[in-house]
Amino acid sequence: MAADQIAHNVAEIESRITTACQRAGRSRDEVTLVAVSKTVEPERIRAALAAGVKVLGENRVQEALTKMPELAEYDVQWHLIGHLQSNKARKAVECFAAIHTVDSFKLAERLAASSDELNQRLPIFIEVNLGDEASKAGVTEADVLPLCEQVARLPHLALKGLMAVPPFLDNPEEVRPYFRRLRQLRDEALKTGIVPASFTQLSMGMSNDFEVAIEEGATFVRVGTALFGTRQYI
Ligand SMILES: *Cc1c(COP(=O)(O)O)cnc(C)c1O
Repeated sequence: MAADQIAHNVAEIESRITTACQRAGRSRDEVTLVAVSKTVEPERIRAALAAGVKVLGENRVQEALTKMPELAEYDVQWHLIGHLQSNKARKAVECFAAIHTVDSFKLAERLAASSDELNQRLPIFIEVNLGDEASKAGVTEADVLPLCEQVARLPHLALKGLMAVPPFLDNPEEVRPYFRRLRQLRDEALKTGIVPASFTQLSMGMSNDFEVAIEEGATFVRVGTALFGTRQYI
């Protein structure tokens, strides 16, 4: 996909985000677009950054590390949105501004220890496996609040909220109940007081369903295909 097509896509997604916010009575600045650049080479990522994208989402530490130096001239935040193994925690803390995919206390402890060493406070999300899908990462609904409570006590982490990748369904309306459920889980955690008041974020919604996600309270939407076109490989 050519650079001007990517610029056009960025503008279109922007306007769809704005419209969805208006529909939901929300302010546009409550929602951050995470441009999912996995498998996309630096040249095309540059086109998105030039068109105003501020946050990139990558799902592999190694892949992100190879691209970062090539895009160093841009003021951009890199977020990890893919599964992270504990043994890569240190590298992840070094290069990512936020981790959306914390799904165990062990991983949270590793991230906290590395953040301590690097004198940082790392923003993280707890990933929830809403559909209880065997193929997907994330904690079950039953484990969300207990894990949040444990993780909230760790120093050097900023527990921001919840993240989910619901089952893929062609009709985005069918995904709505999953988004709503994630919001309810966030609200429950806040109400019980086991998390800080800053536990407000919801990372949910992808190319096919980000508008519905925004209507249900998403604060980070992760959009890949609609910006960069179909991926060649996963
Ligand atoms: C790939 C990916 C996305 C983007 O998906 P699209 O359908 O291409 O927008 C979002 N979130 C996660 C966790 C992903 O792995």
